[in-house]
Amino acid sequence: MRLSIKGKEFICWVVVIVVLFCRVFKNNDNNIVNHEIVEASNYNLKIDYPDVKNKTVAKIMKEYIDTKKDEFVNTVKTLENEEFKYEFQATYSLSSSGKTESVHIIIYSFIGGNHYIREDKSYYYNVNTGEFLDLTYFLKDASSLEELSLLSYYYVNNYFDNNNIEKNEELIKAGTKSNLENYSHFIFKDNGLEILFVPYQIAPWSEGEIKITIPYSDLEDILKKEYLKESDTPKEIIANKRDLNPFKDKKLIALTFDDGPSNMTNKLLDNLDKYNARVTFFILGSRLNQYKDTLIRSYEMGNTIGSHTFSHLNLYKLSDYDIIKEVKNTNDLLKEITGHETSFLRPPYGNINKEIKELTNMSTILWDVDTEDWKYKNAEKVANNIIGHAHDGAIILLHDLYETSVDGALLAMERLTKEGYAFVTIEEMAELKNTTFDKTTSYFSLTN
Ligand code: ZN
Repeated sequence: MRLSIKGKEFICWVVVIVVLFCRVFKNNDNNIVNHEIVEASNYNLKIDYPDVKNKTVAKIMKEYIDTKKDEFVNTVKTLENEEFKYEFQATYSLSSSGKTESVHIIIYSFIGGNHYIREDKSYYYNVNTGEFLDLTYFLKDASSLEELSLLSYYYVNNYFDNNNIEKNEELIKAGTKSNLENYSHFIFKDNGLEILFVPYQIAPWSEGEIKITIPYSDLEDILKKEYLKESDTPKEIIANKRDLNPFKDKKLIALTFDDGPSNMTNKLLDNLDKYNARVTFFILGSRLNQYKDTLIRSYEMGNTIGSHTFSHLNLYKLSDYDIIKEVKNTNDLLKEITGHETSFLRPPYGNINKEIKELTNMSTILWDVDTEDWKYKNAEKVANNIIGHAHDGAIILLHDLYETSVDGALLAMERLTKEGYAFVTIEEMAELKNTTFDKTTSYFSLTN
């Protein structure tokens, strides 16, 4: 917003009146002055001191501003200048959330050069005790900052895309990295956590400050419960959990189906109960809207849903932002449809490395038996490939796109259940084998 000279004049008068008003009514209120305006020969000064209930907190913030003010005055008092006046301005905004309050102070000073120097400082504190807090106080656990940093990276890129602003990848990376300093300014809004990035933190100075809002639905694993405001949570589909005791003495196989859902998925689902079997689907986000009902059905039955990304691109060829987008868009859609995200990722073509693992923050599930079902499109051959390589802990790769793959899987189940095998999901297998997934590892099979 640009103000006309008249508008500025008007605001000045309002400020002067407010100052006088405050002086009159604050006479007895210890010595905290809320506003200060000085017009010296070579500089102007305008300060709004934070007016907060807790006087100890107010005093500390006042001291901060006064230190900055003294620095400014000392710098400019000896400078002679006929053409313009030096300036110092301090403003603040306050927001509260439950027992905590935050004050964001912005100081602008002009000491020559091309533009104002801007300094931001936020204080977070307990309203009653005056205890100062930082972001870690609001976070769920030790890994939350790392997760928040990934999300911020995503939403910042999103912001640039939506506003058609050219990106400086280096600045974005550095400015969203998981250190507390990068997350010094945040407030709890109705629709999510608003994070403010100061000028030059993630974009050139000319872009000014940039604010992103991360919806609370994305922050359930990051913020402490009491700081998650109600957001529109989708209806939650409850997955049927099986009693795993009958499988304890069995040899276990995890059949995994990639690239679906499709019209063939239902044929598989129709027949799983015959073999007391459940399987794992690595779905493509791009197919979910079309096969929503199939997804809900397979999730409800207790099959495991993993992500095969949104559009099946080779992750090696994508930028960091696009990699995150491929994973996040899929999880957002899963959440929208079933109420649950997945923590399992099967990267397209099995292409994964350390950097991608860090970016996606999921458990990577690969396979140790490849049926090559897409190549043979022959049920007997698919069945024989499964039977021939069957072993305890096997993870077997199939695709629920072809009827021959589904038929082949069913044939193999028929045969192998008689030989002491049980067909379980990746999650069930992990539980039965006491495996805790480590996100830095790739799993080809699960052994005890
Ligand atoms: Zn695939």
